Amino acid sequence: MNETSAPPTFTTRNPATLEAGKSYRGHSAADAARKLAQSAEAQRHWRRATLAERSQCMRKAAAVLRARRAEFAALMTDEMGKTVTDGLAEIDKCAAACEHFAASAERYLAREPVAIEGANAFVTFNPLGVVLAVMPWNFPFWQVFRFAAPALMAGNGGVLKHASNVPGCALAIESIFREAGLPDGLFGTVLVASAAVQPLIEDAHVAAVTLTGSVPAGRSVAAIAGGALKKCVLELGGADAYLVLEDADIAPAAKVCAAARMVNAGQSCIAGKRFIVVREVRRAFEAAFVAAMRAYEPGDPRDPATRLGPLQSVAARDQVHAQVEASVRGGAKLLLGGVVPEKPGAWYPPTVLTDVAPGQPAHDDEVFGPVAAIIEARDEADAIAIANASEFGLGSGVLTRDLQRGERIAADELDAGLAFVNENVRSDPRLPFGGVKRSGFGRECASFGIREFVNVKTVHVKS
Ligand code: NAP
Repeated sequence: MNETSAPPTFTTRNPATLEAGKSYRGHSAADAARKLAQSAEAQRHWRRATLAERSQCMRKAAAVLRARRAEFAALMTDEMGKTVTDGLAEIDKCAAACEHFAASAERYLAREPVAIEGANAFVTFNPLGVVLAVMPWNFPFWQVFRFAAPALMAGNGGVLKHASNVPGCALAIESIFREAGLPDGLFGTVLVASAAVQPLIEDAHVAAVTLTGSVPAGRSVAAIAGGALKKCVLELGGADAYLVLEDADIAPAAKVCAAARMVNAGQSCIAGKRFIVVREVRRAFEAAFVAAMRAYEPGDPRDPATRLGPLQSVAARDQVHAQVEASVRGGAKLLLGGVVPEKPGAWYPPTVLTDVAPGQPAHDDEVFGPVAAIIEARDEADAIAIANASEFGLGSGVLTRDLQRGERIAADELDAGLAFVNENVRSDPRLPFGGVKRSGFGRECASFGIREFVNVKTVHVKS
């Protein structure tokens, strides 16, 4: 897109029915540049606001989220197929994150004195400026708020380039911060295609960039940010492994694993994707796991009883199915699902593959849908080695009755940014979130997240 090209149009499509939704006129390159300049101008004042003033706005943002939660949940259902129950929970989580950072920013950003002879020395945390956020559709509100709440509390501005299939969510988020009383333009949304991201990163008003998305998008954004010498945080994909050890309590372990796999219809970076089961409990686990997965019956995402809605698009569903078929051709066996239903919409059933082995997509790649891969391991050491052989390192889990054993494996053995014992991995504003290897770098949430977009400044005053 150049300065003179016509702005794009974004038309949504309901993944459950394939009906066309609303059309939104996008921003031209000049409009987008203006939004960045506005945010930079507003940030010059915002950085001088007290933490109490910033907290007041952030608490108001939480109140707006709670007041409009049904509207926002319905918007997510219409644009990317999220079940209404998950959507309401997502909005509540965003509100909780706003409140968390409103209450905790002062502690997270407090000056840190350093004992140095003959000087008053300390570390202070100044904002960087405007942070550009390139965000995905799978948690259209939560992904944005978990970046925006800490970044804004630290005194930064924010400009959001959201995924192209959720323009309504993108504009709704802009409206929340406006209603919350943030200075005009401090947080802006630009409706542009991914091809238009490069000039935004390179724009002089942008100080840093954060991307949540796929590995190719991360590679591209990191290269551009590197070329422009701008800080970036990347939250990328995952192939999270759950180790089911021989001493696991099988029925509850199977339920934890199914919950881990089925979060957001399997379209989550931290969804469990590989279930690495020690040989002596494999058959018992397979039976319990298939029963737990079968309980996620597909249904109308607007119905509060529905636990599994459609995937985000037919193209995404077809990609998942192609990965299942290639895995079966490679020797995996289907224990459940794996058949595309004959009805309109991006539907895919809960699917369980076993005998999953290297060379199959279900083993090597990220499958972004309700498809679980069971991989057999000889023992604990073999299970750890299989888990760590992945190119990804985002979340991980251990299922065992021995909590000390679980803690040891989680803390010392798994190459992942998060490791949970007897529970599925979840993001939480109080806990740092992020990955290693191809899952990205940098952290969101907690003190680590708020300190990503600050100038960690040394001040040394000779006394
Ligand atoms: P995606 O294609 O990478 O899209 C994510 C965002 O990046 C969208 O706004 C997209 O814009 C933009 N984008 C895509 N290619 C780009 C490029 N070359 N340059 C600049 N921007 C670009 O990701 P997705 O497939 O929609 O989302 C799923 C992926 O995100 C999975 O791999 C998942 O694991 C990962 N994810 C990671 C986390 C985490 O916290 N680690 C959380 C959620 C999702 P357009 O929509 O306009 O293309």
